[in-house]
Amino acid sequence: MLISIQDKLPPVYHHLFVDLVAKPIPQETLATCHDCVLCQPRDSTFVGTKCCTYYPFLTNYLIGGLLSDNDHTLLEGQKRVEAIIASKRGVTPFGVLNPLNYELLDKRIRDSAQRPTDLWSANEVSSLRCPYYDKGHCSVWKYREHCCVTHFCVSVGGQEGNNFWTAFDDYLKYVEYSLSKYAMLQMGWDASQIPLETPTAESLRFENAVGEVIENNYKQMWGEWYGREIEFYKETYRIVNALTAEQFENITGVNQAILKKRVLATQYTFTHPSFPEYLKFNSNFVLKPLENGDYHVSTDKVNFIVDEMVVRILKKFDGTKSTESICQNIKPLGLEFEIQYLKPLLQADVLIAI
Ligand code: SF4
Ligand code: SF4
Repeated sequence: MLISIQDKLPPVYHHLFVDLVAKPIPQETLATCHDCVLCQPRDSTFVGTKCCTYYPFLTNYLIGGLLSDNDHTLLEGQKRVEAIIASKRGVTPFGVLNPLNYELLDKRIRDSAQRPTDLWSANEVSSLRCPYYDKGHCSVWKYREHCCVTHFCVSVGGQEGNNFWTAFDDYLKYVEYSLSKYAMLQMGWDASQIPLETPTAESLRFENAVGEVIENNYKQMWGEWYGREIEFYKETYRIVNALTAEQFENITGVNQAILKKRVLATQYTFTHPSFPEYLKFNSNFVLKPLENGDYHVSTDKVNFIVDEMVVRILKKFDGTKSTESICQNIKPLGLEFEIQYLKPLLQADVLIAI
C-alpha cells in the first residue's frame, strides 16, 4: 500500500517542500511501532523504551511550534519541554539538544566493546530513554526531528527502503539546521555566534561533564534573551511558519536541491522494487516453535517472531516456482501481503536468490 511522504512528515514542513511531500512511498508495515518488534521477546530490555534510547535535537522552531500549539494531545510534551528549559540543560538558541552528560553516557554505552544493542543492560537502556518518551508514546510527535521521522528498524523496501530513509534523513537534518540558523539571523543574532556546523553541548561549553550548567556561560550564550527562552523559541517558529516555498528554496540553496534530488532518486527505486525471478527459503535458519504456535526465527542477522502461516509461506519458496507465481497464490489466502515484504527477507538472507 502506498502513502505520501506528507503522511510521515511533521506539518511544519508541508507548505515548504510542496513537490516532495506529494510523492508516494510504500507504507512501512513491518516496523510495527504500536506493537514494537524490538519488545516482542517477553524478556526484552527495551520494553520500557522501544528504540527511543536517543535524545533528539529539537531545533528552535520545532520547540517554538510545540509550545505555541493548542492541540491538547501535546500537553505532556509541552510540560516536559518547559521543564527542560527551566533546567537549562541542553537549552540553546539553536534548539534543545542532548546535554553533555547524556552525550558522554551515550558514547560510553555505545562504544563499550562495540556491543550490539540487544546486549545492553536494562539500566543502560533506561538511562538513555528519550525525555519525551511517555509510556510507549512520543509526547512531541507532531514536532519530532529528522531521526524520529526517518527511523524504521525494518523497511518493507529492504535495502532500497533503507536508502530512501537515509537520503531523507540527510535532507531533513540539513533543512532543520538551515532553518534554525535562518531564524536566528532574522532575530538579529550576532552572526559570529552562529556556527555553520551543527553545535553540540560540548562545543557550546555551557555545561560540565556531570550535568551542571555553567551559569555565566549560559547567560552569555543567550544574551538579551536570557530568561526569555520560550518567547525566543516561539518567535523562531513564527518566522519559519511564515516562509513561502520560494523563500525556503532561496534560504536553503543548492545543497537543499542536491539533497532533494537524492531523495527523489531513492524514492523511485523504493516505489518500484525489483525481485529475483526465483527465490529459495534459506533452510539453514533456526526455526524454534513457540508455545502459542508462533515461530522464533533467528540468524546472526535477524531475530523475529512470525506466525505459523508465514513459515508455511516461506517454505513455498523452494526455488522451483517463480516469485511472481508464488505471490499470486498467496493473495487468495486472504493475507495482507505485498510483494515488497520480500525485500527485508532477501536482505536478511531468509530468502536467497537462485
Ligand atoms: S522502529 Fe523502533 S518502535 Fe518501531 S518497531 Fe522498530 S524498534 Fe519498535
Ligand atoms: S522524540 Fe519521540 S520518537 Fe523521538 S526518540 Fe523521543 S519519544 Fe522517540
